[in-house]
Amino acid sequence: MKADILTIFPGFFQGPLDHGITRRACELGLAKIEVHDLRQFTHDRHRTVDDRPFGGGEGMVLKPEPIFDCLETLGLASREQRLSGAVKQCVILLSAQGQRFTQSVAAELATLDRMVLICGRYEGVDERVADFIADRELSIGDYVLSGGELGAAVIIEAAMRLLPGAVGNEASTRQESFSAHVESESPRAADSTCGSGGLLDYPHYTRPADFRGMPVPEVLLNGDHQQIRKWRRQRALEKTLRNRPDLLEGVKLSDEDTKILARIKAGCE
Ligand code: SAH
Repeated sequence: MKADILTIFPGFFQGPLDHGITRRACELGLAKIEVHDLRQFTHDRHRTVDDRPFGGGEGMVLKPEPIFDCLETLGLASREQRLSGAVKQCVILLSAQGQRFTQSVAAELATLDRMVLICGRYEGVDERVADFIADRELSIGDYVLSGGELGAAVIIEAAMRLLPGAVGNEASTRQESFSAHVESESPRAADSTCGSGGLLDYPHYTRPADFRGMPVPEVLLNGDHQQIRKWRRQRALEKTLRNRPDLLEGVKLSDEDTKILARIKAGCE
């Protein structure tokens, strides 16, 4: 996958994407990230990328020309081809007004050959970018940032870690929080039988078994994988109910899950 980032702060990305799995994915040749400086696509002495809003109001707006000009140098397929799915390319505008970026959007983006991320600044980006060249607008959450750069880094990291081969142990990206994928219930390996199925992840512990008088739950030490699987599922349900009850609405619950939830709600667990 190739990711192109359009920004007025190209230096911003030196660091966040040079570590861990994104770095590994690039080193393995699974991914490539290219940062494009929008100021290189200006034509005036001051390299102006922003201007005052038509109609008045606060602040400045990112001009359309540098963004259109930069995008035209990238050799992308036409917007029609992109939107029809004829090519696996997507031009994304980072925007607080966009659709919310979620794990399922990350999984969708991970199937692309190429994504282009346009980072806004100031009061935002001239709307003609959203209307005529971006394929979708994405928001990384219900809050306002000063620029799209952090959002672009978030989207790249979340999508690239899902590329086959990017994470050493692929099963781990299937069983974590929000992942809809549910593993089969093989009693052999508890560590691969706890697909979150859209719930939050279960708690993890490592050595020492007793740290400053805080012991690891006994069930994890006894090697009974069936019991471990049940315990993990229960804890995932508990945590989801406590921190993100909204997620439970979209989750397919087994009879056992429903019973566990009823017990938790009744305060018996
Ligand atoms: N006036 C806008 C906010 C502009 S913030 C509004 O009220 O909606 C400037 C830029 O930061 C935006 O153009 C966008 O690229 C980025 N940005 C801000 N919040 C964001 C969010 N939650 N997700 C993604 N990008 C965001």
